[in-house]
Amino acid sequence: TLGHAWALDWMERARAAVSAERIALIDLDRAIGDGDHGENMDRGFTAVTAKLATQAPGSPGEVLKTAATTLMSTVGGAAGPLYGTAFLRASKAAGDAVDGDGVVALLDAAVEGIQARGKAEPGEKTMVDAWVPAARAAREAAADGPVAALRAAAEAAATGAAETEPMVATKGRASYLGQRSAGHRDPGAQSTALLLQAAAEAAE
Ligand code: ADP
Ligand code: MG
Ligand code: MG
Repeated sequence: TLGHAWALDWMERARAAVSAERIALIDLDRAIGDGDHGENMDRGFTAVTAKLATQAPGSPGEVLKTAATTLMSTVGGAAGPLYGTAFLRASKAAGDAVDGDGVVALLDAAVEGIQARGKAEPGEKTMVDAWVPAARAAREAAADGPVAALRAAAEAAATGAAETEPMVATKGRASYLGQRSAGHRDPGAQSTALLLQAAAEAAE
């Protein structure tokens, strides 16, 4: 099973990935939004790892709870409350240790939180289009353990993010563009793919 060391490594890898992809996320958001997503996420995950460095969390649930409250107060925009809710629900599902079914529970909880908050369904060109297939893929791989489940989730999130490109946005800022939102990848779906890739790498 995966414990607090995995969750801490996940957050550190997430910070590094979001920082490395900051400009790319800004460019995606500039095309169909207001261009701040890379900045928002970089600020948020830098704050998460800084906060975790002052704590000694003993479980993945505690790590993800700190991440949730920090993201909520630092990311801002639409993504801050959505990721904050996702990580808060995930923290409750994660508890003390995460096995294959635990990965599924964690991702299902994150999806439920995002959808409770943002009311987006798959196909509306949002981060939901990365999270929903990730949770489904994890369920199919759960019997092979948490590492396999996270790897499957990360792959599905990346595919889901790519599949937002032709979509017309009907939620979030990109929906203001109507048909002109088609032809660009959704920034929140892309950052979700980065976060789940980080989770999988931390588990290996
Ligand atoms: P803002 O749009 O307020 O500037 P960000 O740029 O940080 O916030 O985040 C934009 C991302 O938030 C979008 O790319 C999309 O994935 C996600 N998003 C926006 N609205 C919703 C929603 N209702 N449900 C799910 N995700 C959403
Ligand atoms: Mg934005
Ligand atoms: Mg904004």
